[in-house]
Amino acid sequence: MIEACGVPHTEVDLILVNGQPVNFAGILTQDVGVDVYPPSETGSLLFPEDRLQVRNIEKFVADGHLGKLVRDLRLLGIDVTCDPAAEDRQLVTTSSNEERALLTRDRRLLMHAAVRHGYYLRSQNPLEQTIEVLRRFDLGSRVTPFSRCLRCNALLEPAKKAEVLDQLEPLTKIYYEQFRRCPGCGQVYWSGSHFDKLRARVEEVRASLADQS
Ligand SMILES: [Zn+2]
Repeated sequence: MIEACGVPHTEVDLILVNGQPVNFAGILTQDVGVDVYPPSETGSLLFPEDRLQVRNIEKFVADGHLGKLVRDLRLLGIDVTCDPAAEDRQLVTTSSNEERALLTRDRRLLMHAAVRHGYYLRSQNPLEQTIEVLRRFDLGSRVTPFSRCLRCNALLEPAKKAEVLDQLEPLTKIYYEQFRRCPGCGQVYWSGSHFDKLRARVEEVRASLADQS
């Protein structure tokens, strides 16, 4: 009944029928009062034992339209898979099998019964979307910038300069000594000129997160 009104079950944290909590299996009869509450960012105040959503999810799968959000989250060290070619069915399966919360702006996708955890992004702005996800899943303390590959999501490993020498431009060989490499796709990372932009993005996210708290 609630989804028929356009609200995916992943956005419903508490259902009260005549003032008493019920779960998703509750059957509605006529002449009852129904209250529906979203997940609370400020902590669950009413009926904390009867909340229907989980907050402490740390793994995500994003639909293919969210490339900038995916990049932001990986930059912050958050585990998020994204296959731009994935069809809806694959996204639902990945979310269910790997217990990843599904991030999307497609409400119908979140209505699949197999989706246990998910989040409907309100904003179309990547920075605001990033803040939404950090707040909804309480990830502020989980942020570890520059620990994950921006291209493929794998955790980066330290690499000796000699091991990555053949992948470096001439000036990089001269000026940089510390490198990290992705064991997934082989991408090499170092604190070159692009690093300042990434660091600025991390600071932008942190400032926005602090502003809204
Ligand atoms: Zn990679």
